[in-house]
Amino acid sequence: MLCSTKVTKYVYRYDETGLPEVLGLIAECDGKEIALRAKNAVLIAAGGFEWNDDLRNSFLASETPYACSLSTNDGTALQITMALGADLINMSECWGQLTFKEKAEEQKRDRVPANIVFERYFPRQIIVNQKGRRFMNESCSYDASYLTFAPFETYGQNEKTNLPAWQIFDRKFVDDIGFNTSFFVGKMDKRGVPPYFVEADTLEDLADKIGVDKEGLMNEVVKWNKYCADGADLDFHRGEDYMNQMFNRMHDMSLPFEKNLGPIDHGPYYAVEVATNTLGTCGGPKINNCAQIMHVSGRPIKNLYVCGNFTGFGGPGRGYAGAGGTIGSGQVFGYVAANHILATKDNQESDEIISSASVSEPAVNEREDYHLEKDEYLGSSDHGIGGKLTLGALC
Ligand SMILES: Cc1cc2nc3c(=O)[nH]c(=O)nc-3n(C[C@H](O)[C@H](O)[C@H](O)COP(=O)(O)OP(=O)(O)OC[C@H]3O[C@@H](n4cnc5c(N)ncnc54)[C@H](O)[C@@H]3O)c2cc1C
Repeated sequence: MLCSTKVTKYVYRYDETGLPEVLGLIAECDGKEIALRAKNAVLIAAGGFEWNDDLRNSFLASETPYACSLSTNDGTALQITMALGADLINMSECWGQLTFKEKAEEQKRDRVPANIVFERYFPRQIIVNQKGRRFMNESCSYDASYLTFAPFETYGQNEKTNLPAWQIFDRKFVDDIGFNTSFFVGKMDKRGVPPYFVEADTLEDLADKIGVDKEGLMNEVVKWNKYCADGADLDFHRGEDYMNQMFNRMHDMSLPFEKNLGPIDHGPYYAVEVATNTLGTCGGPKINNCAQIMHVSGRPIKNLYVCGNFTGFGGPGRGYAGAGGTIGSGQVFGYVAANHILATKDNQESDEIISSASVSEPAVNEREDYHLEKDEYLGSSDHGIGGKLTLGALC
């Protein structure tokens, strides 16, 4: 097994019908370019394209600047597969999530996964837009929370309705629960608020500092506090379902299952900007039921199989069916691909790594003082990818 090895090209030829037939791969390994001959076929499981700004901006339907997956998912594999003529599907979708924007900027620069906002599952906080209004059940599933950032206004400059967005909370939240701004929730961190959180003694001052409509925020917090006192969020039904209540216990598993409602009424008050973040993109090459990548002509590309987030299979359209919907399909199509390869190939050739030097070097008859004429035969080698390599002069 080769680790830390990045595939940069396919080695392929066209069959008599003009369809690409994949023979192997070119990859970067330890600073060297290597060529890998495919024994029977190539199975690509190179994840999504979420760390490639250009691809994300071109394809995703909603603004999604950050990713909480591996930064090696940089879209190179997708680009070389597109160059083969692969058909694509579901490219506008990703599995979404929320992040603290300023921290995520720093994490993106360092190419580490963006933090995930788990604090939205707890009491004493709400998420509001520039009008100071809530626009979601803050404790909904992560993918559903992401989808609430899609709408645009239908007047003026057609601004995004819910971006920028701010999480608002009070001092009691900080003291009783705390924050985790690294990546994933473990035990909540009670070392106080990070420097990029905005603090103010009153909600009015907080609204001024973050440029949110003051009256809108005041009205929303008064309404939220009443919902908490009455025990029901009449706008977004926060805390009513099992998942909301289960995540509410993540900062303290001894808590009972109960609604995660809690007023915002102990100053000072805080705000932190939240932004959209993705676990991975859903789109990619279209596949058939044998896990083969489909060519734009409607036929499978020869010897090229795929599974996992790299396929366009994940997330059948907008929305996320539930946990395992990602890893599950990756495993199933990996299995399907392996079975199809075994059933259709002779499995005779040996695995072989060939240095790129041995691919490009003339095999025999090399003479520095010799000048080739057009179509003149130079030599041959049995180390060519996909079989015998013959070298000749084309011009
Ligand atoms: C924080 C988080 C939590 C999650 N929780 C769950 C969960 O609870 N349940 C669930 O089902 N799913 C979950 N998922 C989703 C799940 O992790 C992914 O669906 C799954 O990892 C996808 O597997 P994959 O092998 O397709 O891609 P990845 O796991 O992304 O792996 C892709 C691999 O390909 C490599 N690669 C990329 N480009 C190249 C290249 N050119 N050459 C060589 N290698 C390359 C990358 O380095 C990486 O190792 C979660 C994801 C995240 C980020």
